[in-house]
Amino acid sequence: MKQLQLYADVLVEVPGVGSDRTFQYRVPEALAGSLRFGHRVRVPFGGRRVTGFVVGFSQRQVVDNVKEIIELVDNRSFFREDQLDLARWIASYYLCDTVRALHAVIAPVLKKTTGKRITRYYCRVTPEKLEEMRREMGRRAPKSLAVLETALKNPGLSRRHLAALAGASPSVVDKLAAGKWLRVESEIPLRDPYPSPPPGAAAAGVRLTAEQEKAVREINAALRAGGHRVFLLHGVTGSGKTEVYLHCIEQVLRAGRQAIALVPEISLTPQMVKIFRARFGRSMAVLHSRMSDGERYDEWRRIEDGEAPVVLGARSAVLAPVPDPGLVIIDEEHEWSYKQEETPRYHARAVALYRTRKSGGMLVLGSATPSLESYCRVLPGGAYKLLSLPKRIEGKGMPEVRVVDMRQELRAGNGGIFSFLLQRKLQERLQKKEQAIIFLNRRGLNTLVVCRECGMVLKCFRCEISLTYHMDGLLRCHYCNYTVKAPQFCPDCGSRQIGYFGTGTQRVEKELQALVPGARVLRMDADTTTRKGSHQRILDAFSRGAADILVGTQMIAKGLDIPGVTLVGVVNADISLHMPDFRAGERTFQLLAQVAGRTGRGKTPGEVLIQTYTPEHYAIQTAARHDYHTFFRRELSLRKSMGYPPFSKMVRLLVHGASESAVREAALNLRELLDGLVKGADRDKIYIVGPAPAPVARLKGVHRWHVITWSPDYHGLRRVMEELRRRTGFNLPGKELSLSVDVDPMSIM
Ligand code: ADP
Ligand code: ZN
Ligand code: ZN
Repeated sequence: MKQLQLYADVLVEVPGVGSDRTFQYRVPEALAGSLRFGHRVRVPFGGRRVTGFVVGFSQRQVVDNVKEIIELVDNRSFFREDQLDLARWIASYYLCDTVRALHAVIAPVLKKTTGKRITRYYCRVTPEKLEEMRREMGRRAPKSLAVLETALKNPGLSRRHLAALAGASPSVVDKLAAGKWLRVESEIPLRDPYPSPPPGAAAAGVRLTAEQEKAVREINAALRAGGHRVFLLHGVTGSGKTEVYLHCIEQVLRAGRQAIALVPEISLTPQMVKIFRARFGRSMAVLHSRMSDGERYDEWRRIEDGEAPVVLGARSAVLAPVPDPGLVIIDEEHEWSYKQEETPRYHARAVALYRTRKSGGMLVLGSATPSLESYCRVLPGGAYKLLSLPKRIEGKGMPEVRVVDMRQELRAGNGGIFSFLLQRKLQERLQKKEQAIIFLNRRGLNTLVVCRECGMVLKCFRCEISLTYHMDGLLRCHYCNYTVKAPQFCPDCGSRQIGYFGTGTQRVEKELQALVPGARVLRMDADTTTRKGSHQRILDAFSRGAADILVGTQMIAKGLDIPGVTLVGVVNADISLHMPDFRAGERTFQLLAQVAGRTGRGKTPGEVLIQTYTPEHYAIQTAARHDYHTFFRRELSLRKSMGYPPFSKMVRLLVHGASESAVREAALNLRELLDGLVKGADRDKIYIVGPAPAPVARLKGVHRWHVITWSPDYHGLRRVMEELRRRTGFNLPGKELSLSVDVDPMSIM
């Protein structure tokens, strides 16, 4: 019988080779019949040998001169069709190479570290036989005997443990295993980073409130009806969103489908895992970045094998290999950390939307402060359904929020960090032995210029973006590069009290010590949390009452649930308010709402003080009143007037490299090239600003310039980007220069 000649389509692991191109290779006879979809093979490629993945087969040769696959690299399939499809979607939407996206989609499998896997050993020799062997050859092979004896007494030890316990070297274990004296179990029991709860710890099943009940009913009805739907669960902090998620997941499991629940990395605390574990036991897998590669691989495999139909994890868990996601939940959907800041620069929400649309599943977005992007879709005519949980559980009130006008403090002769009111409140708390949090937003890496008399902040007249101060005495817009000499006097009120900004946690700590001597102060910022787990350790210490005051940056705004905290002070709300980013107002509102949610969780009602030079700003006013809707309307109209998202799609092109002049030059050329690509009527619809130095103009010695583009007509913008890609491959001519393309950027820093 004539052998059927078969060809395989291979996605080579070479960056920049056409975004989604596959290459045809002949399947060698030795592999015919055994080569499968998703196999990794080695192939000749442009005079080199490279690896790639088999993504299809064909009977017919489509190119002349077809080369042959050299060998199979790993005898396993790395992905299924649906995973490849997901990678292709990510690559196309986020304008990156398919193989880069695929690497992200299957990362835990690629990073699998065989060395870390525990293999277990069992003695195959009976006790009687062992005794006999000891008599016959004890003198000659004492080490081997010791290993066998140890293995007999302790079945299931790992190689290293067995050797250590027997006082032999691991090579003795290997020899015995090779000689079939030891049985090796490679179907390893999986590592479980979170042990199961003790029996009896399972959920008691709380009684849902009427609002929770309604939300669950609506989502479950949609689940039963089938078809893709998106729900926005808008619930204030402490309104019991988690319970709603758990109920919906149960329903999905009953239907034989799978569920993925995403939480921001920082809120994926042991408590969170415990809550899910109590409900779903071993049917749940956990994925996050603090796990070892081995642990992640094990969890991944349990998901692939269908053992764990529930996945709880941070951003990358949205890529979990569940075949039929009936439900994806994104808690705190407004969080920036859902956007990956390296290629592929995907947003978990967008990926979840794609996956549930394909599977006909539900997407539930939960937040106390929904992103403008999501909330505008629940307006009449929008595609999302709004579900509200407007009250805290058990009638706990929202904390009282007071806005402190720092301009008045200055007039009253207080030039320090703490307002008189905050000073007094802190002292009160210490006397009452209650805890306080001092929150300070230090994200402003650039110096902000504020008039301390009237609160005026200079903005770019074109972009509505706050100007930042630079050492050369200039104020700069980091979008369009407009620059102006920093004024000596406030252009609004004529005051000379203009300048500065940027208060560090250390300075706050010092002033605190002077203000309330003897108070126990804990500091949490980038410096004190460099070590793994230190973040949690500081929080734990504070929860235990080991300190009176916790001082920290945005890190402390989330995931903190400490009943003893009755006061939160926000030292300088202005820094986030005037960040050079069109989302600065949204970001500030979210932060303040989140910070306010940290207090009053216990019996004593909480209190929040927000210090600012612009107390009249709508983001601050609405946050103080817990009034999302008014904030939303104001912010939306501002975005509309500027044509910023959600009224447009944005793409940011960031040029980076070691030489500033080369980076600047390349960015200028890029802008010119873009201008040439935007033709005719598109000129009115596609905005391009820059190049300008990025707000973080230099990062680890690398200079950064960007060009920002946005358009209400996303297809038009895409066409331009695709043309740019076709012409340049997103490569810049200069050496040591690179370009990153960020679709829907979350951070413009
Ligand atoms: P959110 O995620 O909306 O901020 P949580 O889900 O953390 O709120 O719930 C706040 C608290 O209320 C939790 O301690 C939770 O156990 C509790 N809780 C939730 N639902 C109920 C309920 N129906 N009855 C009693 N307590 C509840
Ligand atoms: Zn002024
Ligand atoms: Zn500008």
